[in-house]
Amino acid sequence: MHSSGRNSGILHAGIYYPPGSLKAKVCVSGARRLRAWCEVEKLTVLSCGKVITPQQPSLDPQLDLLLERGMANGANVEIIDQQQFNELVPDGRTSSGRALWSPDTCVVKPLLVIQRLKKRLVERGVRFIMSEDSWSLAKKNQILLSDKAKISYSHLFNCSGLQADRVAHKFGVGQEYTMLPFRGGYYQLKPNAPLAFRTNLYPVPDLEVPFLGVHISPSVDGTVYIGPTATPALGRENYQGLKGAEPFMALKFLGSLSKQALFDRKMRRYIKEQAFDWMPHRFLAAAQQIVPALCKEHIEPSLKSGIRPQLYDRKKNELVQDFVMLSGPSSTHIVNAISPAFTASFELADHILEKTQFNL
Ligand SMILES: Cc1cc2nc3c(=O)[nH]c(=O)nc-3n(C[C@H](O)[C@H](O)[C@H](O)COP(=O)(O)OP(=O)(O)OC[C@H]3O[C@@H](n4cnc5c(N)ncnc54)[C@H](O)[C@@H]3O)c2cc1C
Repeated sequence: MHSSGRNSGILHAGIYYPPGSLKAKVCVSGARRLRAWCEVEKLTVLSCGKVITPQQPSLDPQLDLLLERGMANGANVEIIDQQQFNELVPDGRTSSGRALWSPDTCVVKPLLVIQRLKKRLVERGVRFIMSEDSWSLAKKNQILLSDKAKISYSHLFNCSGLQADRVAHKFGVGQEYTMLPFRGGYYQLKPNAPLAFRTNLYPVPDLEVPFLGVHISPSVDGTVYIGPTATPALGRENYQGLKGAEPFMALKFLGSLSKQALFDRKMRRYIKEQAFDWMPHRFLAAAQQIVPALCKEHIEPSLKSGIRPQLYDRKKNELVQDFVMLSGPSSTHIVNAISPAFTASFELADHILEKTQFNL
């Protein structure tokens, strides 16, 4: 229903993240493990790689930074020239005659992955209890469900995505954090569009904000997706229109963004360059930076949309970039499980277990 079933399905290669960050630690091996698991499970993995292209000549030096980061993180990356770029993405554009090639990036169908994962976990005796939004903490180490059933635990892991900060607050931890939901909307290439993409094509991202920019992604079923945007959502589960809108939260969200924009150059840049990409002409202009021949007749809105559980640090007045793991009473809280948490999930889970102070 939420991020894991609604994401782009890219198994990221570990290029963007500053060496030493938790994202850098878990992405490369997480991608290898998830890919290997999908192959064992006979779930389709599209080995299509990814090209990162500078949309303006001034962004070309960022390729060297990304190359350096990727190599430091253990990813397989190389700089390619115009001719290699043209062979990989005939319809794409590099503004400087150079681009970054990541052969190991691949694509899966996220919904199939998590459905299979659930099946395997159920076979091992794991029980899923769904649609319990009104549970409460009863006495120590016990949760009370809405039908008065009780669940006792020795240690609780809060991995509740878009609601993770609210759950953490119930345990008295992470009060300085709140979630700011950023919606990712997609378009898709019409089947008769005279353009073809057999690899992912990404712009050079603004590394000071946690979004990768509108990109082109082939998928397992042949659809080519364009997106996702990163625009403020009106609620944590506001996937389409006004459904799931939380007016009070939205007002607070816009207040936080404006406050941050007052002091922060990078937030002003985000607002100028990405916040309004939900408008069709802005979206098209963003995509045309990397595929100049793309025009509105080639694309149609996709039903697919997801919302990033982006954490905001109220004390520091900034968007948090790395994954955050907080310790609470007999509990561990994973907040800011943004991209690449899907790619990294197996490795991240091991890291969480390793770092958890169990008090059993
Ligand atoms: C548009 C978009 C594109 C993305 N693309 C990629 C990508 O290509 N590659 C990549 O690696 N990552 C990508 N990501 C990020 C990735 O999807 C997430 O990082 C990851 O899925 C997070 O997983 P999760 O289990 O933490 O959250 P979720 O999948 O959201 O799961 C949280 C679960 O907690 C449940 N829950 C909520 N509240 C409660 C409660 N009170 N009690 C009990 N349960 C509760 C929810 O129902 C849900 O099932 C993308 C994200 C978005 C939004």
